[in-house]
Amino acid sequence: MISVAQAQALCIDMVTLVGTEPVPLSDAAGRVLLGPIKALRDQPPFAASAMDGYALKAAEVERDALFKVIGESAAGHRFEGHVGAGQAVRIFTGAPLPEGADFVLIQEDATRSGDLITVSTDKITKNNIRPKGTDFTIGDALSAPRRLSPGDTALIAAMNQPNVQVARKPRVALLSTGDELVMPGGTPGPDQIIASNVFGLAAMLRATGAEPRIFPIAEDTDKALDTVFAQADEWQADFVVTIGGASVGDHDLVAPAMDRFGVSRAFHKIAMRPGKPLMAGTKDSTAWIGLPGNPVSAMVCGHLFLLPMVRRAMGLKDVLPERHTARLNAALTPNGPREHYMRAHVSGGVIDVFERQDSSLLTVLAQANALAIRPIADTAREKNDILEFIFL
Ligand code: AMP
Ligand code: MG
Repeated sequence: MISVAQAQALCIDMVTLVGTEPVPLSDAAGRVLLGPIKALRDQPPFAASAMDGYALKAAEVERDALFKVIGESAAGHRFEGHVGAGQAVRIFTGAPLPEGADFVLIQEDATRSGDLITVSTDKITKNNIRPKGTDFTIGDALSAPRRLSPGDTALIAAMNQPNVQVARKPRVALLSTGDELVMPGGTPGPDQIIASNVFGLAAMLRATGAEPRIFPIAEDTDKALDTVFAQADEWQADFVVTIGGASVGDHDLVAPAMDRFGVSRAFHKIAMRPGKPLMAGTKDSTAWIGLPGNPVSAMVCGHLFLLPMVRRAMGLKDVLPERHTARLNAALTPNGPREHYMRAHVSGGVIDVFERQDSSLLTVLAQANALAIRPIADTAREKNDILEFIFL
């Protein structure tokens, strides 16, 4: 058995980068930008007003000073003339600052009467001007690799770039295995249950930027597994993920089936709870991962191993879940010989580790927003001890 950290390193190592594809900016959020993208212009392209008010000369501003309003500068429509001594131009947010002006008196600080204004305050600090290029200048770059946030896409738009080159979405084949499984909406026999964890895995994969596909359930026969493996291969999956059948019981046929298919296995077991029987290997440029069948185990292993692999395939660098710390709100008993990822809820810096940790309990997972991490052979912990966790 290897440690979680060793398994994560091996998993990330076996990943092949997917290629890139161009996408229109409207589809770019959530995708991974692989090369820096550069501004094609300055923003703003001219000195602009940051407020509604009057453009005039800073040196003339004092309480009760009088100015004559000689025109207007609106967003998209500059004032073409020059602002001279004792003159002001009505100006609006985003409008170009007229020549001769170096100050915008906000309208709240002016009293207007006809085409005359007077300064009605002596508390003046800012000039309310956005200098040309204050946001970015031509050639400035948004760094890569990065997962594009909504804010990033707005920035790229302002740079006047209508398309971006991003990592192709890794294709992830999700294969449920087990005679006991029926798809949601089906009619389970008396000994059957609903295949659930593929839907959780598909959701987390999609949220991470992959293209998951749920394949038909394979029953527990060599033939069924060979068939669904061939289907996943034909789809040109970047990742083939099996769920269930991964331990060494009589009905656990996945490891031998992967061997038959020509997958070269990197490891089979990890010193962790939940999810000890985790397999990973490669065939050509496809990574194969065998997740345990218990719903919570499958989801936890998805967070710890599968999502980091998918992030790496898209070219991201920091791919492991970020670790945080919180104060325990109740004592914990010592941990055993496997690293334990315990369902928990974190709020306000305090972590509540749930009593029930059986790896079949989806109701407990649904209440959790975090996994508390207990290292191998961790001693008993007191209330208020600091514990590491990852967010779900
Ligand atoms: P296995 O790894 O096949 O021995 O499965 C371990 C446990 O997980 C068993 O209780 C299975 O019924 C259950 N299980 C396996 N696959 C799934 C699935 N796709 N959805 C829900 N439960 C599953
Ligand atoms: Mg099974």
